[in-house]
Amino acid sequence: MSSLFPTYARYPIAIVKGKGSRLWDDQGKEYLDFMGGLAVTNLGHVPDEVKDALVAQLGELWHASNLFVNPYQEKAAKLLTDNSCADAVFFCNSGAEANEAAIKLARRYHQKVLGNDRYEVITFTQSFHGRTLATLTATGQDKVKEGFLPLPEGFVHVPLHDLPALEAAITDRTAAIMLELVQAEGGVIVVEPEFLRGVRELCDRHGLLLILDEVQTGMGRTGKLFAHQHYDVEPDIFTLAKGIGSGFPVGAMLGKEKLIPAFTAGSHATTFGGTPIASTVVAATVESILKQDAPARAAASGEYLIAKLSEKLLDLPVVTEIRGRGLLIGIQCTEPVADWISELHKRGLLVVSAGPTVIRLLPSLLVSREDIDRAVELIAAVLTEAAAAKASN
Ligand SMILES: *Cc1c(COP(=O)(O)O)cnc(C)c1O
Repeated sequence: MSSLFPTYARYPIAIVKGKGSRLWDDQGKEYLDFMGGLAVTNLGHVPDEVKDALVAQLGELWHASNLFVNPYQEKAAKLLTDNSCADAVFFCNSGAEANEAAIKLARRYHQKVLGNDRYEVITFTQSFHGRTLATLTATGQDKVKEGFLPLPEGFVHVPLHDLPALEAAITDRTAAIMLELVQAEGGVIVVEPEFLRGVRELCDRHGLLLILDEVQTGMGRTGKLFAHQHYDVEPDIFTLAKGIGSGFPVGAMLGKEKLIPAFTAGSHATTFGGTPIASTVVAATVESILKQDAPARAAASGEYLIAKLSEKLLDLPVVTEIRGRGLLIGIQCTEPVADWISELHKRGLLVVSAGPTVIRLLPSLLVSREDIDRAVELIAAVLTEAAAAKASN
């Protein structure tokens, strides 16, 4: 019997080793990994440059405290601000915590810098923002809220791509609008450019902050270092986590210069945020992503993968759409995909769902064409068999 709380419906595979796009289980079976630890291992598993930096740092210093000047953290922050529209970074340990920091910063900016009492954050149905009490309340999916009442105040949800509904939801309590640019857990829904432009205009007109949750879309995943760089829109705040540490637990909340005075000494903190080890891993990950041009490779591989999938799958009666951006791709099916995912795992390809009827693909940004061809072949085989089984029923 397991000594763990049963919070996960775990796949019956014990992964014990990884390298690049390959994983191995405790029986020695090899898998081609097209789920990337849910957009965490963007450079593949155990990437050499990050590993070397981490191993070197392990012999120097693990932790001192955020009560001291931390040159490692300064270096990681400067790499992020030099390569984005942000001017300052707060490091934490997860995506949920990064979003908590964003929500707190938005409230505090209104209450302490602007001197008003705005606190409400508008988010979108089908969104996902994390599992802390505030971020699960921000999340636009009821399933994450069951049994956790009462929920904290200050969150309103509107449908994505409905600008009139968004405008109607803005009141004199509204502090910010928060969204993902690809709703990932929500089914791989890409935000339309006109909609984001409209959101930015509403924020500017009503004095609201635009918060982008780039926890899953960040670090090259969508074909740019950050997904908002596909749009001619800049956020006031954006959050990162999954891909920023190559598997080491790290989160980051980034903001524009005008927000810096809102977080004064003592207003927000976390013990482990940006430790020497974490910051070394972040710096090595960002440097390696930039040096290898990983976002551009993700863009090219994503186009190739979507084209291949479209060619092999769109004629099947069980598939209705292939969508996504860069290497965050969803295969929309007509029925539940859980059994097909299990079958793919048995055949050595690891993929994951995004909601009940979408197969989600999140390979390494450095994935090879051969591995893409192999994955498409396996997916096409399983879905062709599923379509044939359906036809004979
Ligand atoms: C995974 C995810 C989160 C939560 O991150 P954790 O590190 O699990 O807390 C928040 N937002 C988005 C968009 C995510 O994909």
